[in-house]
Amino acid sequence: MTTITHHLTDDLIFGYSAGTLPEAVNLIIATHVSLCDECRAAIDAQDAVGGALLETVGDAPVSDAFLDGALALIRSDGYAPTPRPIAVVQDPVAPAPLRDYIGGSLEDVKWRPVGMGVKQAILNTSREATARLLYIPAGTAMPDHGHRGLELTLVLKGAFQDDEGYFARGDIEIADEDLHHTPVADISEDCICLAVTDAPLRLKGLARLAQPFLRI
Ligand code: ZN
Ligand code: ZN
Repeated sequence: MTTITHHLTDDLIFGYSAGTLPEAVNLIIATHVSLCDECRAAIDAQDAVGGALLETVGDAPVSDAFLDGALALIRSDGYAPTPRPIAVVQDPVAPAPLRDYIGGSLEDVKWRPVGMGVKQAILNTSREATARLLYIPAGTAMPDHGHRGLELTLVLKGAFQDDEGYFARGDIEIADEDLHHTPVADISEDCICLAVTDAPLRLKGLARLAQPFLRI
């Protein structure tokens, strides 16, 4: 049973299905989808519409309004995609799409300290966007920051909270230039997240000095 409350946006689902997103963004979407029946169904539906579009329109231009309409249609209750079998999860924390990038399981991750007890491991993806694992000790606050681009944060273990809400395993937070936040790990246990950014964060004060070394 799924208790995920923070999901992918239509834009991300559309981009994933169309194959236009950077590798790191695809990775975090695939990892969310491996935990989330709702977004998996939305992507299956989008794939079906995308395939049908290719067959019917060929190279003819398609208006945004048409695409919006198609997306709204498949999001409505009338469309019932065939469910894919749910993958058996072997590592209780690292879902299948992530395992190739971390060398098997979270036990194999080579963490590097970034201060305040927080550790990170940057994953090997194409350079258009950066994927990293973050290990945040229970109760620890991340530096207060804004964003120059997109920041996607998927919780794998534990939970964190900010002004936008409470994010637990499987939840994905989608932050952009409009959001300034200070995520704080839940006090109950250490938090592990997969985070993807397509531009450096906007940091203040001392954290900014360390930024070039940490690639955050
Ligand atoms: Zn979802
Ligand atoms: Zn952020």
